[in-house]
Amino acid sequence: MRSDPVQAKVLQLTDVPAQSLGTRVDFLVEEGQPLSLAQAQALQRDGSFHQGEHPTLNFGIGARPVWVHLELINPSDKPVAMRLLAGVTWIDQLDAFVVQTDRIAAHWQTGDARADGDGLAPALGYSLPLSFGVGRSDLFLRVASIDPMVLPVELLSEKMFSERQRRMGYIYGFIYGFLAALCAYNLLLFAGLGERSYLYYSLYLISFIAANLAYSGHGLAWLWPGQVLFQRYVILVLMVVFGASGLLFASRFLALAEHAPRALKRVRWFCGLGLGAMGLCLLAGSQLGAALVAFSFLSLFSVGMILLGVLAVRKGWELGRYFLAAALFGALGAALTTLAVWGWLPFTASTYHAVEAGVIIEATLLALALAYQMRYHQRISLRAEQLARLDPLTELHNRRAFLELAGMTWSLAERGDRPLSLIMIDIDHFKQINDQHGHEAGDRVLVEFARLLDRQKRAGDILARWGGEEFILMLPETDLAHATALAERLRLSLSTSPLPLRHGNVVLAASFGVAERTRQSRLEDLIGAADIQLYQAKKQGRNRVSSTCSISVLRQSSG
Ligand code: GH3
Ligand code: MG
Ligand code: MG
Repeated sequence: MRSDPVQAKVLQLTDVPAQSLGTRVDFLVEEGQPLSLAQAQALQRDGSFHQGEHPTLNFGIGARPVWVHLELINPSDKPVAMRLLAGVTWIDQLDAFVVQTDRIAAHWQTGDARADGDGLAPALGYSLPLSFGVGRSDLFLRVASIDPMVLPVELLSEKMFSERQRRMGYIYGFIYGFLAALCAYNLLLFAGLGERSYLYYSLYLISFIAANLAYSGHGLAWLWPGQVLFQRYVILVLMVVFGASGLLFASRFLALAEHAPRALKRVRWFCGLGLGAMGLCLLAGSQLGAALVAFSFLSLFSVGMILLGVLAVRKGWELGRYFLAAALFGALGAALTTLAVWGWLPFTASTYHAVEAGVIIEATLLALALAYQMRYHQRISLRAEQLARLDPLTELHNRRAFLELAGMTWSLAERGDRPLSLIMIDIDHFKQINDQHGHEAGDRVLVEFARLLDRQKRAGDILARWGGEEFILMLPETDLAHATALAERLRLSLSTSPLPLRHGNVVLAASFGVAERTRQSRLEDLIGAADIQLYQAKKQGRNRVSSTCSISVLRQSSG
């Protein structure tokens, strides 16, 4: 019987389900000339309308206008007040008619393409307070929209409606608060550190907030009410700006210019293409073109971010994993919402908000990644600083580091008038080792020799490679006699520590020059004095220790 399904979809106003009523309506896609209400009513009565199959009707981008019909029964004996909540906030034109006993009880015109459209409920759609008299009423909606025609239709009590609005208020307070705080924090980091990743990241967040304000209807409700032309394009333009700024950030964060110039070129090309195509659509005044560009660009942007993340992980770049994880969440959210709005996935509260959840997770992961990047750069610069003070071959202090450290020790000794000595050490006939075993073996000998000195020195002594095969050792709190004894000990330990080379062991010998700080002298004088003693040791036949006391001893014996 034909009457059964028709009976089943009639809605009792005392028993309205708390969900979108898409399966309870019938609809007609308007072909050709716009229909009047009377014509639509006639077609509905003829059975030309189709039964809705999904809770939310969705006709996609650039759809033909649609008539939606809902039959209602008020079984009580007094009028019932209900709030109609229909569409999404970017629907261009929405007309609602309530027909009772063949009389139009209410006619309402709204939509974001109408300057005087009212009832905009940000992030919810368009809402209209209605009163249904006793008995049968028919609700007709006519919807025309080039922007994605997503059409949830709900009937709510006033209480449920204000509850819904309050919940949205909290949700968006959280979303915007979180993103704005993150954005301000990163702008401060940019101001403080000058690293452009932070700036681009803030731009990315700002463009998301702006796009979200636009498509959720907050912008039209509060920031640019009545600006129809602006509203027609702002969402679509901001979608492209959001994608482009995301790619700008990714390029900088992943240092594509250095690591992957070809990928950078493609990213720039893609962004240029998207922005250019959008510009052309604006010039041509094509809302449909702009919508197709925006949705295609954003879908490809999600794929691009994931591809960049995969590239970063595969190449083992620092923080590539963070980026990939962040991009996956961001892209998954964006893809769910885009596909739902486009009509490929069911449009529900979860798919509508998926992009926001995705961006929040993405933003958190990227903020973490930026923090790690800062730590990574700190480590690198610390390491560079260390390296500038180290001799790369022996890993002892170099001359520069020695002069810095020795200067402090010198000042301390001078202030407290404490003893301080210095030993200059030069390997004997080192050239022969290079000549006989090769330069590489010579290097290894230098490393072993440095290790030996390092093991034998006392804590607090300052050891450094002074140049080629020459080393320097500063001994705080040590007088000349003790320093000379230490040098002698070092010399002896050399002769008993053969250094292993590929073709057998080699026993090294070295000459030592020792000097002690005197009251008048400066650090340079002490180094000069030790150097003179080293020269003496060489002159006297090498493999020996010469110290300033041996001069005085020499002088005494000759005098
Ligand atoms: P002396 O007993 O007079 O000190 O003779 P020597 O051969 O040790 O001294 P000389 O100054 O004539 O030669 C030093 C050699 O040390 C020459 C140079 O090639 C070598 N040398 C300097 N730095 C390095 C290095 O980093 N690695 C290697 N393998 N050789 C080095
Ligand atoms: Mg619109
Ligand atoms: Mg030498």
